[in-house]
Amino acid sequence: MTYSEAGRVCGGAERVGEAAREAAWEALVATARRTVADGLVVGTSGNVSVRVDDTVLVTPSGVSYDRLAPDDMTGVDLDGRQVLGTLVPTSELPMHLAVYRASDARAVVHTHAVHATAVSVLVPELPPVHYMAAALGGPVRVAPYAAYGTDELARTVLDALTDRTGCLLQNHGTLTYGASLDQAYDRTAQLEWMCRLWLTASSVPGRTPSLLTEGQLTEVAERLRGYGQRS
Ligand code: 13P
Ligand code: ZN
Repeated sequence: MTYSEAGRVCGGAERVGEAAREAAWEALVATARRTVADGLVVGTSGNVSVRVDDTVLVTPSGVSYDRLAPDDMTGVDLDGRQVLGTLVPTSELPMHLAVYRASDARAVVHTHAVHATAVSVLVPELPPVHYMAAALGGPVRVAPYAAYGTDELARTVLDALTDRTGCLLQNHGTLTYGASLDQAYDRTAQLEWMCRLWLTASSVPGRTPSLLTEGQLTEVAERLRGYGQRS
């Protein structure tokens, strides 16, 4: 291959990378806007990230998702060094990066969903009232409280995520991850729904909700592998 051919190939690969980042940024902004539209956060609460190769695109800190444009693309490397954009990245960078370093996550969604946050102040684990707990790896744990944006919060969250793709953050909210933004978002929506279900069932006076056993959840985890359309 001649020098100029190599240059064209490199330039091509760079353009492909840039196009992938642009598409991922667009999807990230759409997901962040959805968290507001679906009532999972208020204002600039919560944050979303997506991994493209070794770059992590993140929502900027304290900026309304409505105002985010293509030029606002914000990205860091896996060590947290800013490699794209000038807006300050989300304050929860330690938490997002800890998840990417420790798992095969391609996207992370953090919200302050109200039913999930209510559950986080009541119990150390969401009681398994519904089989969809299996879609998150089993009964969802609550990460003990630590101040937002701290390395300590990142540590407690990572611990709560052991063998799970989602957890609650005590007195704070939710975190889920997935192989795509859609999957991470869907897990948050399912988690919030399960929290609402448990709060509803457990608030009936004089009655206690029945819970699923570990065996029942394992059976569902198996079944879920074949759920939906054949690819
Ligand atoms: P950022 O605006 O910095 O992302 O913070 C919002 C939040 O939810 C902190 O936990
Ligand atoms: Zn938060």
